[in-house]
Amino acid sequence: MKQLKGIAASSGIAIAKAYQLVAPELTYTKKTIDNPEAEITRLDNAVEISKRELEKIKEHTLNELGAEHAEIFSAHLLVLSDPELINPIKDKITNEKTVAEAALEEVSSMFIDMFENMDNEYMRERAADIRDVTKRVLAHLLGVSFPNPALIDEEVIVIAEDLTPSDTAQLNRQFVKGFATDIGGRTSHSAIMARSLEIPAVVGTSEVTKSVSQDELVIIDGIDGHVIINPSDEQLKEYKKKQEEFEKQKALWAELKDEPTFTSDGEQIELVGNIGTPEDAQGVINNGGEGVGLYRTEFLYMGKSEMPSEEEQFEAYKSVLEQMGDKPVVVRTLDVGGDKELPYLDLPKEMNPFLGFRAIRYCLENEQVFRPQLRALLRASVYGNLKIMFPMIATLEEFRKAKAILLDEKENLRNEGHEVSDTIEVGIMVEIPSTAVIAKQFAKEVDFFSIGTNDLIQYTMAADRMNEQVSYLYQPYHPAILNLVNNVIEAAHSEGKWAGMCGEMAGDPIAIPILLGLGLDEFSMSATSILPARTQLKGISKKEMASYKDKLLSMSTAEEVVAFVKEKTQ
Ligand code: PEP
Ligand code: MG
Repeated sequence: MKQLKGIAASSGIAIAKAYQLVAPELTYTKKTIDNPEAEITRLDNAVEISKRELEKIKEHTLNELGAEHAEIFSAHLLVLSDPELINPIKDKITNEKTVAEAALEEVSSMFIDMFENMDNEYMRERAADIRDVTKRVLAHLLGVSFPNPALIDEEVIVIAEDLTPSDTAQLNRQFVKGFATDIGGRTSHSAIMARSLEIPAVVGTSEVTKSVSQDELVIIDGIDGHVIINPSDEQLKEYKKKQEEFEKQKALWAELKDEPTFTSDGEQIELVGNIGTPEDAQGVINNGGEGVGLYRTEFLYMGKSEMPSEEEQFEAYKSVLEQMGDKPVVVRTLDVGGDKELPYLDLPKEMNPFLGFRAIRYCLENEQVFRPQLRALLRASVYGNLKIMFPMIATLEEFRKAKAILLDEKENLRNEGHEVSDTIEVGIMVEIPSTAVIAKQFAKEVDFFSIGTNDLIQYTMAADRMNEQVSYLYQPYHPAILNLVNNVIEAAHSEGKWAGMCGEMAGDPIAIPILLGLGLDEFSMSATSILPARTQLKGISKKEMASYKDKLLSMSTAEEVVAFVKEKTQ
């Protein structure tokens, strides 16, 4: 038995066998060989196994995620059937008596370099395909297993260093019962995805990949942030009981599913959900959400080999709007960069990606990416109650430019004969301190604010949200953060606008009473946090919390804030 402590990222208890989703070690010694034929047979076998695997993954992806997502694997299969790649490898083995691993890597590298240096974007993408396929064949030549998360077909707990959003998108919800990672925090995207998939997760354990072997029994305690490896019978019993209690608690929360949210002094509060895909909208409805406060559209762009078309985006946005009926749906325009990479966009590697060329900065420079998204949104607007939100706004000029492009596309669409709603609100994420500080000036021009505390905290405290070593500085309750949040809410109200919050802080039980007192209008959170928040709000008075506002804003440390809130609410 071994126990690790991490960050509780998605609540619940999961018990299953470990599945190591770790890049395999692909080292070998380069040597000459005596029998080229045998070496070529080895290569042929490795290529054959890889092809069979890719066929299966392609079929699975096609069934689970659709044709667009499956395309990347068709491209990989094409690479493996291309004589222009395979023959030179075989020639190298025959002529230079090179071991197959080295012949494969050397020839592939030559093609990768060649494609990467081409002007044509399509060709540059081929370099990425060759790189992926080479790793797979190399793994089979070396006899090491290559993880294929899309093919998981039994109940497992995924163990990984980190899960990128595109890894997470490939996981089969039916079989992946939970996951644990070495790195990440509560607001890293793997954690956010776990909550929208409603699977228990513990992140930031530092060493789970080193501590667990494939197939070992693992317990994920996503309530208290523990990972138990090879549990004793006693522990198994204890955690099965905890699992049952959690399920019972969930059933109690579920009783409030169709109720509105009222505080103990009768104030009605709007609780909405954050989603990453159209499928997640159902999770918000099932958990009693009164709308969508943040649709992170970047997930539409991930895990595929090319940009989604305007039509494909239109279908996705329309689907969310239709599922939500007349409930509000706040859609955020593309927020890539930082920890959200898109291989086909060819974003440059940066020293500080979170401070770099991302989100609205990228979109304003790349209208060929931005305009189709805005067009798709505007076209979908007639199917529900759409609000559009721009991410990472740092200056008013950025907002004005983005809004001007939106209005331009609205006019274009109308000229083309499309119907577009007249009542779309246009707002911004407040996640950069400069914007929070001059929120008053912004409030005159935007229709609403949604405070993105995940980023606002990292930028205000200068503490990377992905780095556990500085996680002690990542303090949602720090008075500096509370003052910025208050400034945004007051600015909105002074101009008759509304202020919401879609960062993870909005669903945090310590933050909820504070935000209530500051007058936050809309709380947007992971679907699974909605019912616990509704239950909590029933027991707190808005008037009472508002009376503590000045005291809280003038406190000196986060610790003081937490102690005070606990004393007043428990
Ligand atoms: C935020 O920054 O708070 C936010 C909601 O956006 P994301 O987590 O996608 O960066
Ligand atoms: Mg953000």
